[in-house]
Amino acid sequence: MTTDHIDLATRWRRHLHQIPGTGFDVGEAADFVARTCTALGWEVTTGISGNGVVASLARGTSSRTIALRADMDGLPIEERTGVAYASKNHGTMHACGHDGHMAMVLGAASALAKDIAFDGTVHLIFQPAEEPGTGAEAMIADGLFDRFPTDEIYGLHNIPGLPAGEIHTRPGPLMAAEDNFEIRITGRGGHASAPHFVIDPMVIGAEIVLSLQTIVARNVDPLDAVVVSCTELITDGARNAIPDQVVIRGDARTFTDADSALVETRIREITEGAALAHRASSEVVYTRVFRPTINDADCVAHAAAAARHAVGADRVDASCRPITASEDFAAYARAVPACFAFLGAGEIAEGGTTGGGGTAPLHSRDFDFNDAILGAGIDFYTALATARLPEGNRS
Ligand SMILES: [Zn+2]
Ligand SMILES: [Zn+2]
Repeated sequence: MTTDHIDLATRWRRHLHQIPGTGFDVGEAADFVARTCTALGWEVTTGISGNGVVASLARGTSSRTIALRADMDGLPIEERTGVAYASKNHGTMHACGHDGHMAMVLGAASALAKDIAFDGTVHLIFQPAEEPGTGAEAMIADGLFDRFPTDEIYGLHNIPGLPAGEIHTRPGPLMAAEDNFEIRITGRGGHASAPHFVIDPMVIGAEIVLSLQTIVARNVDPLDAVVVSCTELITDGARNAIPDQVVIRGDARTFTDADSALVETRIREITEGAALAHRASSEVVYTRVFRPTINDADCVAHAAAAARHAVGADRVDASCRPITASEDFAAYARAVPACFAFLGAGEIAEGGTTGGGGTAPLHSRDFDFNDAILGAGIDFYTALATARLPEGNRS
């Protein structure tokens, strides 16, 4: 990798850092990546499910295709990094490093267009709305893989806490599904001093919060990883008035569709049973926000080979532990063979990047993407493209 591509990518990353959007509202980033790819000689298609962008480069005669994916959205967080290139969009920042993800794919776009021979087509997919978990599905629903047929797809996420420049992945489940639930218990409120005249949804709600913990402890196979977390408990009561209603909201993480189905079934059974036992009524709304990210074993082998080429065998772990965070890349992996991988961003240190010596955690006001790992990502992507689209008759 020449330092030219890294210098360019660093400049692009810092520019993208200044113009963050959230969700589907990432027009400034979409315009920038579209203009940059066009200037590099890629054929650019914009407006896929709103602000989604695909840039394509075909070489030679092969019909083989590979896709590299970057997410474009930031978060509704007020930046506190103090960097000179801080967000210009008040109240919004790139706190998850998606600016770096775009810059690494753009760096690969620059390298592939200028220096690197291959035979086939590379598609660069820039998606909106990774954080809410709806951007990939929206692009697929808008015909992404019909318009840009793809044999395999790859993506990276920077991970604070992993040594800088290491690449970790694994076959099978890498990241969890995220399901959300909302439980509504309706009783009959009344005076706090006269419980015999009411049906108290608070007591039922408390019982349900505790009982939900038995799903993991007593229903899930102990060798499966599942998390059930109640995160909000909302009532319409007052200090001296028993409420009519209690709403419990929460979040469940699973790695298989079967466990996700089991969690939903048990939440419904526990809620209905508790409400019935105490003469209240209940309602459960269960939604699947992110699906589990499941890596294809062959794609993992290809990604691991490219990673070893890019950063050295001693900095690659191709059988890492899964994590219970979730990732919108999962939607692509359900449609085509895929591998998602983690790129180490360095140790987590107080003060983050600007405090020296490390990085802040993701989604922190102090987070700034570690530019020192841009080269590793660019080399990984270019090594993948050249290995998966080998040039047959180089002159
Ligand atoms: Zn994030
Ligand atoms: Zn992210």
